[in-house]
Amino acid sequence: MTALTETGDLQDLAERAGRELEEATAPEILAWATETFGAKFCVTSSMEDAVVAHLASRVRPGVDVVFLDTGYHFPETIGTRDAVEAVMDVRLITLTPRQSVAEQDAEYGPKLHDRDPDLCCALRKVKPLEEGLTGYDAWATGLRRDESPTRANTPVVGWDARRRKVKVAPIARWTQDDVEAYVAEHGVLTNPLLTDGYASVGCAPCTRRVLAGEDARAGRWAGRSKTECGLH
Ligand code: SF4
Repeated sequence: MTALTETGDLQDLAERAGRELEEATAPEILAWATETFGAKFCVTSSMEDAVVAHLASRVRPGVDVVFLDTGYHFPETIGTRDAVEAVMDVRLITLTPRQSVAEQDAEYGPKLHDRDPDLCCALRKVKPLEEGLTGYDAWATGLRRDESPTRANTPVVGWDARRRKVKVAPIARWTQDDVEAYVAEHGVLTNPLLTDGYASVGCAPCTRRVLAGEDARAGRWAGRSKTECGLH
């Protein structure tokens, strides 16, 4: 494993790898990440599906898979998390916010997600992930360029300046068809909501089914100006 301790080294490495691995396959990108960062690499998963976790576990059995339990997930999402932990060769790590939903309601009032979703996401997603990633130098996500215009320029390997870590998007170049083909070929676990009209699955109060012709993330924070939770 390459010795990488200086943030400057990591940033240089990330930017170089982003250029050199642009045409690489997802397993090749993950092989580079696991060989380079070893135990300081993890996969994050929203449990919409387990595609990146599956890819990573084949490259590095026992890889850390980090799931953020906001306290507002659909039961189907928690069920998918439990199934992934039960059947896949990964080390599942569940992060939770400092406050339970009840504690947050007591301090900020009920339904903060309706009144100030940015603050709710900051408390229940951004902060816990920031703390949970402290021990890692690199993290992988399932971001894809075709998901929305805001994700169109996602590098396969980039520099996460806010967290000062390497951010890996091994399936950035995949299409929805690629995902579905991989799921079918390998029998990968997916969230049951994906076959119930939800194209993208987040917290229950902020996610609705999508309509015909809408892009995959149109059901997230629908009717509000918000399109991203602040994690990316
Ligand atoms: Fe809160 Fe909604 Fe963000 Fe979940 S997605 S943390 S419920 S605002």
